[in-house]
Amino acid sequence: MQERVYLDHAATTPAHPDVVSAMIPYMTKIFGNPSSVHSFGREARFALDDARAFIAQSINAKENEIIFTSGGTEADNTALFGVAMANKDKGNHIITTAIEHHAILYACKQLEKEGFEITYLPVNEHGEISIEDLKSALKDTTILVSTMYGNNEVGTIQPIREIGALLSGTNVLFHSDAVQAFGIEKIDVNDLKLDLMSVSAHKINGPKGVGFLYVRNGVKFLPRQFGGEQERKRRAGTENVAGIVGLKEAIRLSELDMLEKVERFKQFKQRMINIFQKEKINFSVNGEGARAQLPHIFNVSFPGTNVESMLTNLDLTGIAASSGSACTAGSVEPSHVLVAMYGKGSDRTTNSIRFSFGYGNTLEEIEGAAHKITNIVKRLTNEK
Ligand code: PMP
Repeated sequence: MQERVYLDHAATTPAHPDVVSAMIPYMTKIFGNPSSVHSFGREARFALDDARAFIAQSINAKENEIIFTSGGTEADNTALFGVAMANKDKGNHIITTAIEHHAILYACKQLEKEGFEITYLPVNEHGEISIEDLKSALKDTTILVSTMYGNNEVGTIQPIREIGALLSGTNVLFHSDAVQAFGIEKIDVNDLKLDLMSVSAHKINGPKGVGFLYVRNGVKFLPRQFGGEQERKRRAGTENVAGIVGLKEAIRLSELDMLEKVERFKQFKQRMINIFQKEKINFSVNGEGARAQLPHIFNVSFPGTNVESMLTNLDLTGIAASSGSACTAGSVEPSHVLVAMYGKGSDRTTNSIRFSFGYGNTLEEIEGAAHKITNIVKRLTNEK
């Protein structure tokens, strides 16, 4: 079998072996329900409390500000609906951006049906919102601003610190979807003045189906899920104990080599660019010129190609990558992110591929992939 190269870490990552080892006992020996009073239950509860304390200190939050969820989608939905429903007496206006993940955008569409007014801030060609646009969108009825930390398609980082500073001390709450940025950037929710933040484990070499939502104490918030009283009455249901233990371990590991990882991913990106330039293929990097970008995401437009042929050819040579609209399974629909950045008619919306790096990728593998990509691009563009 040919060697495969996985360059789709923004979609998901393999669980780290240490994560798996940490989880196993919680599926076998330590299987109790954390709500049970007996020793089996206490052991499971201890693991949850331990993970919660670890995560809280990692983001400079308090333990009771962490709600475990089934991942980024649930965290995003819970943030939006939880705040919207609890604060509708104060106002019905929410501000978000045109390039959010669908977990936010589709939740907003539903909120619109339920009588909320949503403003979708535009972005510039680098994928950045402007603070001036945000300022002019704010009104008396605004209850929440939700902007992603780092974009999952192009990697652009939003001016989170400036937004936090602008909203701090006002009645407007600030949520950020940090699913892609978490584990790559150290995040301090107090420093950034975040009121809510979404995180998912499977993007940082943790297990799938688990994540958390940070909700600052004092934020008026209605639960979305009702039942047995787990998660401090804010989310019912038996927790995914093994998953939460895995999430904690993934966060612990991500903190050990954060700086080194960032440097490694930057090097991968630069090496690919160098090879493309040396081989003289036509390409441009989407989001280039942004003030800050997530280093693991490299979204490239190859003029004269199209996403379908590129992805098929990449797959045939063993390279796993994604289309621009990477989070809609199998989708080759023009990406709403690239449309917002470059306009509907731009060929970037139909010829862009996202490569995303992760733990396990080697420079050798990246160079090999860059040469294969070059050959595919040359072949596809010469065929014309
Ligand atoms: N937000 C962003 C920015 C994402 O990249 C993803 C994953 N594609 C999600 C939310 C959803 O997370 P999950 O897969 O854990 O539901």
